[in-house]
Amino acid sequence: MGGRRSQNKSKSDRKRGSIKVQRELSSIILDNETTSVELKQNSAEKLIALNRKHRLKMPKQVGLMICKKCYVLYDTNNSRTRIKHGQLIISCLKCESVRRIGGGPKSHRRR
Ligand SMILES: [Zn+2]
Repeated sequence: MGGRRSQNKSKSDRKRGSIKVQRELSSIILDNETTSVELKQNSAEKLIALNRKHRLKMPKQVGLMICKKCYVLYDTNNSRTRIKHGQLIISCLKCESVRRIGGGPKSHRRR
């Protein structure tokens, strides 16, 4: 009894903790009642750092709202969203990167 150090447990606890933090940060970003852009932007950057550190997958819903290049949180002033050929096209006006989301006719052809 006693003196047994369970390293495995602390490791899985840490991962579970990071998932919990990820969920909390995501909910801040997705929360429509949180009007502070600064807080959301801050959370977005923290979330990206967390994901990278723990190799977590970005929650899809949140991933769509953050520029993968300059990490800015999209809003109506810094991004342009269009739907073209059934694809969602998000242009970041800050770093001028364009993201295409969803299967358009082209991605069908590529297979
Ligand atoms: Zn950008």
